[in-house]
Amino acid sequence: MSALDVSNILDGKQVANLVREELRLKVDGFVQQGKRRPGLAVVLIGENPASHVYVKNKIAACKKAGIESFFHQFAVDVTLPEVLSCIKKLNNDENVDGILVQLPLPKHLPTDEVLEALSPDKDADGLHPYNLGQLFSGKDGLRPCTPKGIMVLLDRYGVNLSGKNAVVVGRSNLVGKPIALMLQEKNATVTMCHSKTANLDEVCRSADVLVVAAGRENMVRGSWVKPGAVVIDVGINRIETPTGESQLVGDVEFAGAAEVASLITPVPGGVGPMTVAMLLANTVAAYEKHLK
Ligand code: NAD
Repeated sequence: MSALDVSNILDGKQVANLVREELRLKVDGFVQQGKRRPGLAVVLIGENPASHVYVKNKIAACKKAGIESFFHQFAVDVTLPEVLSCIKKLNNDENVDGILVQLPLPKHLPTDEVLEALSPDKDADGLHPYNLGQLFSGKDGLRPCTPKGIMVLLDRYGVNLSGKNAVVVGRSNLVGKPIALMLQEKNATVTMCHSKTANLDEVCRSADVLVVAAGRENMVRGSWVKPGAVVIDVGINRIETPTGESQLVGDVEFAGAAEVASLITPVPGGVGPMTVAMLLANTVAAYEKHLK
């Protein structure tokens, strides 16, 4: 892609900005035709500082793309019926195309039950069991934002996945499982690893495409990366440096891996910005379907 800087960095920030600009132009087009703006409802529960930062960024990203946002904030001790009643109202609100419930939820709220209450057509994060089932069956649906963002990033950099060995480290519903399905959908041969996988280093060295989503800082060493591999580091870990400063690092030892990888995502600035861009993309996709 000509507009992208070609080094061995997979620049998620740059691609996310391109995607967001494309969405802004698309939304402008609808508004010029006299249509209402797409709307995303954001539900935030409790005081988790990271969640507050994420929500603030997502709402700002909506604004920049011309998407209207509706913010619903609840105290940490909100009851399940109160949350479900809010979701029900949003499901029936004609101006709301997407609904995002920021995770994690406080312990007393069952995540599955809350996500299942969303209308699958408005499931902006793509985590409703219906949409996960659609992904499982290879059918259209709203897709989980982080793995979808990884696929868009690979596509924009022209990475061909067909016949490649892809290794996914981590098997969460949020990242590991869906990205394995999406890579397979593009004809990669996928191996899934987890905390009980034997000889993880060897398995990683077999990867043409290595996706790491374990939540373990610098776990994948440079020596685990096959020369020429494409490395996607999903991990976001906050560590304290020897000088006492706080720093974000991924699950991959970046310096060592970057020496041998053909392409690698940085942390921050890799997968994270793509996740936000896909939230907007899902909202606009839901809006277009809603208009029809
Ligand atoms: P999770 O805790 O739900 O799952 C982690 C997975 O990693 C598990 O399946 C576990 O089996 C595996 N694992 C843990 N330790 C391992 C080890 N030593 N060896 C091999 N496998 C191991 O986490 P998640 O929600 O999938 O998130 C993973 C990481 O990605 C976290 O750091 C999270 O913050 C980050 N994340 C980033 C984004 C983003 O937008 N960049 C989005 C979601 C998650």
